Amino acid sequence: MAIATSPSKSLEDALRKRGVRVTRQRAAILKVLSGADDHPDATELHRRAKVIDDSVSLATVYRTLSVLEEAGIVHRHVFDGEPSRFETADAPHHDHIIDLDTGDVIEFRSREIEELQERIARQRGYEIVSHKLELYCRKR
Ligand SMILES: [Zn+2]
Repeated sequence: MAIATSPSKSLEDALRKRGVRVTRQRAAILKVLSGADDHPDATELHRRAKVIDDSVSLATVYRTLSVLEEAGIVHRHVFDGEPSRFETADAPHHDHIIDLDTGDVIEFRSREIEELQERIARQRGYEIVSHKLELYCRKR
């Protein structure tokens, strides 16, 4: 029988593999991050992590996010004029719609857009290494 590993456990393993000690505070942040599907910013991550462990400081959240980002475990998104928002890097590639009124971040995937981008790059002699597509939107 396979033993199910929680998403936060695999984040912890990824940190350990990189020689980063998983403290109680870091474990709380990883748990929140792996359970979040709304691309929270550092302040919101801090608020949620404190529910699990109230010794988590905002400074620890920032430090942990930097380590995770450097290790490629977390993606940082800098949407126009907003504090950075974070998500774990294990999700398949997707792009984002940012709702300008609510700040909601909605994920989407489009095969057509992916193919179009590849064609545009190829026609100009390039191969896409990575890309980010952000649509800043208002509800009609
Ligand atoms: Zn996303």
